[in-house]
Amino acid sequence: SLQIIENLRSEIKSAGLENEVEVHLTGCFGFCAKGPIAKVFPDNVFYVQVTPDDAKEIVTEHLVNHKVVERLLFEEPSLGHKKVEKHDDMSFYKKQSRVALRNCGHINPEDVNEYIGCDGYVALGKCISELSPEEVISEIKASGLRGRGGAGFPTGVKWESSAQTPPGQKYVVCNADEGDPGAFMDRSILEGDPHSVLEAMAVCGYAIGADTGYIYIRAEYPLAIERLKIAISQAENAGVLGKNILGTDFNFNIELKYGAGAFVCGEGTALINSIEGKRGEPRMKTFSSSKRGLWDVPTCLNNVETFANIPAIINKGASWFTEYGTEDSPGTKVFALGGKINNVGLVEVPMGTTLREIVYEIGGGIPEGRSFKAVQTGGPSGGCISSKNLDTPIDFKSLGAIGSMMGSGGMLVLDDSDCMVNICKFFLEFTVEESCGKCTPCRIGNKRLLEMLQKITDGKGTLKDLDDLRELATTIKSTSLCGLGKCAPNPVLSTLNNFYDEYLAHVVDKK
Ligand code: SF4
Repeated sequence: SLQIIENLRSEIKSAGLENEVEVHLTGCFGFCAKGPIAKVFPDNVFYVQVTPDDAKEIVTEHLVNHKVVERLLFEEPSLGHKKVEKHDDMSFYKKQSRVALRNCGHINPEDVNEYIGCDGYVALGKCISELSPEEVISEIKASGLRGRGGAGFPTGVKWESSAQTPPGQKYVVCNADEGDPGAFMDRSILEGDPHSVLEAMAVCGYAIGADTGYIYIRAEYPLAIERLKIAISQAENAGVLGKNILGTDFNFNIELKYGAGAFVCGEGTALINSIEGKRGEPRMKTFSSSKRGLWDVPTCLNNVETFANIPAIINKGASWFTEYGTEDSPGTKVFALGGKINNVGLVEVPMGTTLREIVYEIGGGIPEGRSFKAVQTGGPSGGCISSKNLDTPIDFKSLGAIGSMMGSGGMLVLDDSDCMVNICKFFLEFTVEESCGKCTPCRIGNKRLLEMLQKITDGKGTLKDLDDLRELATTIKSTSLCGLGKCAPNPVLSTLNNFYDEYLAHVVDKK
């Protein structure tokens, strides 16, 4: 991509257009299957799978001869071997609504002025100058925004809980420890639009009375870290972060804290332990962290995607936000669509969109003429949804009702060549590896579950093993200390419920 940018700039210069056409680097457009992508504004024309050698043709045909736009209007939309499409005509984008990803692929994430040019920091200014902290919280509550990290707790209620504690030291924490295999929603937002998260954290700080924020981010996200560092420094220089924000007496600083790759540190209390410099393992939840969190003081903890929604809600209003989604789950949700699907990528859809629409209309269906078998939502903590539930609307309630969960947004599509018992084993291997070991049901129980699955896939299992599998999975779910252990058996239980015949195919005494 960097070479494409360089070649485009040099071709534009050779064509004498350097004063008319600029080439900007952006974050991700979401259409991973077709990258690298170049988009020409204001024509709204997409070039997909661009190579450095295409730069000359794009500049000559599109910018010098204006042939591409003519062809899009009147003829076959192609440029040499490249497919060219109008953004709004692309099936991948047609059913998407971009709120959290609104600026990704549109602005240069390393230039605060581009963010400001898209109404950036207007929400913060509006809060500080026009709204009381209570009014900010009631707007977020009215929007019905629920945490996008997995649990779906109402964000406004969480903020209110911290705000109602006595004045004193409080913290805002952004959970950017995205650890689900195949999930890259938060990484993409931080790489493509870091200021939206900084602005939202400052809004939260104003609302709850905090002057310090931490972003807990995986050290394995070097580009996101680099862009956050640039964004923090630019925001401080622009007077929208740091001391006396926008000339008022409101102060808010943000510091980065790096996670070392432990999946369990995405769990709120383990994350707090880790920031405090302690071993990254969950605590007993005797208090909500919004009342007693980091260093035992009120701490508002939200994930990246949740924060990315906040400036748009403040700018456009709660009623605008509730036009998207369902009554139970307003707004949109970002999913990392992967596995056996044609259009692999990052998609943002209104809550209530069905799995069928995501798989077949946005995702373009299953490759190589194979048929759909299942979707795994929620990563290793989620469940497998079979074809009989393809018309399930995606929202917190509906996914829970069919034994899956929203999770943070991983969506893995499986086809008829995948063995569901093996898929289940894959996820359990991950959770066994990532269990912190603090409590017995998770540390020992999940290991035993994995051994049983191994025995079954080795062709040595019996019908009794299937019963034992279900019993142990149910016990682990109800007795583990934290979400990792409580949800680890979900893939086992959902595959036993939806794909029992595949387990039967492995056992020795099925007849
Ligand atoms: Fe640790 Fe697992 Fe217990 Fe959570 S459930 S505290 S990850 S051992």
